[in-house]
Amino acid sequence: MKRRIFLKNASLTGVGLAVGSTLLNCDEKYMKKTSKDEAIIDSGKASLPMVIATWDVKNATAKAWEVLEAGGNALDAVEQGCKVEEANEKGQSVGKGGLPDREGNVTLDACIMDKHGNCGAVVYLQNIVHAVSVARKVMEVTPHVMLAGKGAEQFAYELGFPKENLLTEPSKKAWKAWKKTSEYNPIINIENHDTIGMLAIDKNGDLSGACTTSGLAFKMAGRVGDSPIIGSGLFVDNEIGACVATGLGEEVVKTVGSFLVVELMRQGKTPQEACEEAISRIVNKPNSDYKNFQVGYVALNKQGVTGSYSIHEFFSMTKYQDGKNENLPSNFFNKS
Ligand code: ASP
Repeated sequence: MKRRIFLKNASLTGVGLAVGSTLLNCDEKYMKKTSKDEAIIDSGKASLPMVIATWDVKNATAKAWEVLEAGGNALDAVEQGCKVEEANEKGQSVGKGGLPDREGNVTLDACIMDKHGNCGAVVYLQNIVHAVSVARKVMEVTPHVMLAGKGAEQFAYELGFPKENLLTEPSKKAWKAWKKTSEYNPIINIENHDTIGMLAIDKNGDLSGACTTSGLAFKMAGRVGDSPIIGSGLFVDNEIGACVATGLGEEVVKTVGSFLVVELMRQGKTPQEACEEAISRIVNKPNSDYKNFQVGYVALNKQGVTGSYSIHEFFSMTKYQDGKNENLPSNFFNKS
């Protein structure tokens, strides 16, 4: 099932996988079931290398796995993996074919972070398919962490990235249809969220992560989400673990979500517990409007133990480990 369809089907009134679903998103060999039907992940050493990603992106994790299996490093793996989705025109949330903003412009946000804590990001990037690779170049060849808009685009051209029209016919059609019916107000619509975030551990046990998106569909011109913001959309600490987010970026930014998850793991929480705590910070805010938006996290620790959790049903994590490439439904908060 396509990622966007997952979200479309995430009826706010649906009950779904309340029982037993807690077991679906974790490393089974590291967990046991409690009487409260909670997943507990024991610490242990998982088999390396491995890669995980937000949503059902098995082609992307397969590419990353290919790099890792051949002895490549985690940084190359996550970049190559994300590029698969950026080039996939059918995915209307990432790279080419992404849904545009309200003016009809496709604008991309991406970031990448390596085992040394180096990072690079691009925001509001237009006309370039592989935003994640431009983010990597920001990290590697500039003294900066983030480039925006025209500056980022110019930088990419100087490095030889080709100029491409990112607005495909189906996305243009969807935008035109949206213009007819929608008001010019911020719309919190859970159909519109899905970013590719990827985390990998290579054969040396080193971590890297990347995140790439066209952001919230039909966003206000100039809007930037969580995905390129280090600490919000992505955070990697090679000593501890890594986390990447998807969903309504504004809510992730307000809670500095990915950094929070990694810090909670530093304090001893399992990746699963840390993801659940980060979601609880969002949903337990006074007057939280969480019924009207989705946020999901996937995380792994240095040992390769993983976790994933979201506010609503139909979020999932793809994991490639031990030669097995699987999409695992995530447990979620809103069971009502
Ligand atoms: N997190 C992204 C953003 O807010 C959207 C998404 O995950 O689809 O830009």
